[in-house]
Amino acid sequence: MELFFAPVLILAIILYAIFKPQIKGYLGERTIATFLSQLDRDKYTVINDVVLNVAGKTSQIDHVIVSNYGIFVIETKNYKGWIFGDEKSQYWTQVIYKRKERFYNPLRQNYGHIKALENALINFGQLTYIPIVVFSVNATLKVNVTSDVVYSVNLLKTIRKYDEETLSNYQKQQITNQLNALNNNKDRALKKEHVKMIKDTQKTIQHQVQNNICPKCGSALVERMGKAGSFKGCSSFPKCRFTASA
Ligand SMILES: [Zn+2]
Repeated sequence: MELFFAPVLILAIILYAIFKPQIKGYLGERTIATFLSQLDRDKYTVINDVVLNVAGKTSQIDHVIVSNYGIFVIETKNYKGWIFGDEKSQYWTQVIYKRKERFYNPLRQNYGHIKALENALINFGQLTYIPIVVFSVNATLKVNVTSDVVYSVNLLKTIRKYDEETLSNYQKQQITNQLNALNNNKDRALKKEHVKMIKDTQKTIQHQVQNNICPKCGSALVERMGKAGSFKGCSSFPKCRFTASA
C-alpha cells in the first residue's frame, strides 16, 4: 500500500512546488471573491476577472464592482512579508527576512485599469471610479499612501464607506452588460450567463415600458407625438430623455 502511494505523493509535492505561485494566486483571488459575494446584490454587481483589450493593450482586472456608488476597481496582492511603498514611486518593495523584491506599484497598475475601463465605457460619459488595492493578511503593510490600500478583512468596510449614489439601477445594468460583453476572459459558461442576463434585462425593460414606467428613472411614461408618429417618452423630460416606440 505505502509503496504504491509514495510515488503519487512525491509527484503531488513536486507539482505543488512548481505551481505554488499560481495556486496561491488563485486561492488569493477566490478568497476576495468570497468576501465580495457578501455585498448586497441590489446595490453591487461584482464581475471577477475582467480582461479588456483596448488599443492593442490587454488589461486584466481582478475584480470590478459596478455599484450605485460608482465603479470599484480592485487589485489584489497575495504577498507575504513587509510591504513598503508610496503613492507615486514606480515600484514597491516586499521584504521577507533579508530578501528584498520589488514589484510594480499597484496604485499605478490600478490607474492603468481605470484608463482601460474609461475607454471601454466611453459612451457613458464621466463615471466615478474608486480604486482599491487589497493585500492578504499574510502581508504587513508599511505603506505611506492616501489611496485605499487595505487588508482583505477590511475590504467590505472600505467599499461600504462610499455611500454617495451616483448611478441609477438602469445605468448600473447597462454598464454591467457592456463590460460583460467586452470581457475577453475565456470562460464560455460565463459568456452564456451574460447573454442570458442581457436578455433578462431587455425583458425587464420591455415589461416596464408596457406598464408605462420609465426604466431609466422610474417616472411615468406618457404618450407623445413626434414626426414619425406617436411614441412613449418619460414624463420627467427634459431631465430624463428615455423614449420607446409606442
Ligand atoms: Zn425617465
